[in-house]
Amino acid sequence: MNCPQCGKRVWSDWQTCRYCGLNLQSVSSQAMAIPIAANPELKGVGGWLLVFCILYTIGGALFLFATRPFRGDFLDILYLLQAIIAFVVGIHVWSVNKSALFVLKIYFIVALCVRILGLLVILLALLSGTTKNQSELGVALMFSFIGLGTTIAWIGYFRYSQRVKNTYGSNLIFFS
Ligand SMILES: [Zn+2]
Repeated sequence: MNCPQCGKRVWSDWQTCRYCGLNLQSVSSQAMAIPIAANPELKGVGGWLLVFCILYTIGGALFLFATRPFRGDFLDILYLLQAIIAFVVGIHVWSVNKSALFVLKIYFIVALCVRILGLLVILLALLSGTTKNQSELGVALMFSFIGLGTTIAWIGYFRYSQRVKNTYGSNLIFFS
């Protein structure tokens, strides 16, 4: 490397620069500290974590009222329940609650089961061919796949994100 003060060539075993006397050990330890100092920036509710929080707290409710008028039937109650659960999960994550990762773990396990079950029900209905509305089922199947994929993507995010680790002290771990 070159001395950052005088620009002359210096060697790694030198304690100080032989040309200008700069302490090279403090310089190299500062250079080493840069990647460590960069990590705390990836902390707090921002980036994809903020996207998750907004989607789960506000997005769920917006989706509920945007898709169809509220009639109070079984499907409405199911969607309402889903939005309430998503809201509770979103608030835990957004407020960096101590039990946020635990709440997420339970939520993702249940969500995965529900999504896979929903997918199977639609697939069975499609294959049996008893329903007249095949195209409607096809659309439902597509949304079901998208839902499952999104859930898996979020699980991957909470499992491997450096920001999640810095913010909650750990990543999402299913088996420990
Ligand atoms: Zn120098």
